[in-house]
Amino acid sequence: MPRTAASHPSSRAAGVGTTVFAEMSALAAATGAVNLGQGFPDTDGPPEIAEAAVAAIRAGRNQYAPGPGLPELRAAVAGHQQRFYGMTYDPDGEVLVTTGATEAIAAALLGLVDPGDEVVVLEPYYDSYVACIGFAGGVRRPVTLHPPGYALDVDALRRAVTPRTKVLLLNSPHNPTGAVLSLDELTAVAEVAVEHDLVVVADEVYEHMAFDADRPHVPVASLPGMRVRTLSIGSAGKTFSFTGWKVGWVTGPADLIECVRLAKQFLTYVSGAPFQPAIALGLGLPDSYFFGLRDGLAAKRDLLCDGLDSVGLDVHRPRGTYFVTTDVRPLGYDDGWTFCRDLPGRAGVVAIPHAPFWDDVAVGAPLVRWAFCKKDEVLTEAVERLRAAFT
Ligand code: PMP
Ligand code: GLN
Repeated sequence: MPRTAASHPSSRAAGVGTTVFAEMSALAAATGAVNLGQGFPDTDGPPEIAEAAVAAIRAGRNQYAPGPGLPELRAAVAGHQQRFYGMTYDPDGEVLVTTGATEAIAAALLGLVDPGDEVVVLEPYYDSYVACIGFAGGVRRPVTLHPPGYALDVDALRRAVTPRTKVLLLNSPHNPTGAVLSLDELTAVAEVAVEHDLVVVADEVYEHMAFDADRPHVPVASLPGMRVRTLSIGSAGKTFSFTGWKVGWVTGPADLIECVRLAKQFLTYVSGAPFQPAIALGLGLPDSYFFGLRDGLAAKRDLLCDGLDSVGLDVHRPRGTYFVTTDVRPLGYDDGWTFCRDLPGRAGVVAIPHAPFWDDVAVGAPLVRWAFCKKDEVLTEAVERLRAAFT
């Protein structure tokens, strides 16, 4: 019984439901299943980064950090963009530290989108995009990446853009499909953005997880005409396997960064102080750390993909991220939700149904996402359980 007539959620909040990641992680905890659902690593990142955070806490760096982020972290973010992409950003004004990439996405959309403005987004999409476009009063215009290859249909992209389009929200490497946009696809995106004078919000949290030498990650901001119109988003949770620290960042031209900063001030004000010097240290680690992260995950991709294939699933092998998508129809299911709700009981494994990431539910319904940022023995155990249940 509600205590007051006003105890119902606002229409904005009611519209978003509960995130599928929380639901499926709760299911894993309740059933003791192997959790290949929510994407978080089951090993910590580099110990020297953890030690730097401990040292910062002990040194008393525990009060509010400056709003845009600690200068040393902003300098380290700029240094990272320079080192890996040859892009120059001024740490004062062109870099903003956020509370995870999640806040960067929210603040970018709230800082840029007016009610009725349209946001073009790749479908399937990360679920916070939908919520935040809605919070901003924007209208999402999905462009479908079709299985099994998830290539960008440039004509569909062009059709999705209207005079009301303000933002193109891009994500590559792409969650949940693992697609990495090719240079041709990125070039087409850039042409559309320049032609229609769009802002591109580029969610590049999986930037260091592009596995195939012939399909490296290229920041869309580095293409001709794009630096002035692109906000690029990174995440320490992904790059250093500290998802619980919630440190992210945005780089872009000062006028666009200012839009994000305006919103960020009233979401979190500032982001966790002692984690910032630690992540600054992480961003300065040698190239071998970043390549090691990529190569380690590439091996896990192969381990899980081969395992899922051996169980009879139709595996859409990813080029990036730490997720693989499968079509579950070969196992006798036509619906990913039913499959995922059955899976803990039937096999003792948890995965994520794609359905919440789609407007075109017919395409997304039979698809299921599995995370491989787990210890090899956990991946092997999951595959053995699936094999016992389905073969
Ligand atoms: N974007 C994508 C595509 C993601 O998968 C995630 C992971 N949660 C985020 C943003 C959010 O990153 P963070 O944990 O840094 O908030
Ligand atoms: N990005 C991770 C995933 O896609 C975590 C999601 C979350 O916790 N919001 O699984």
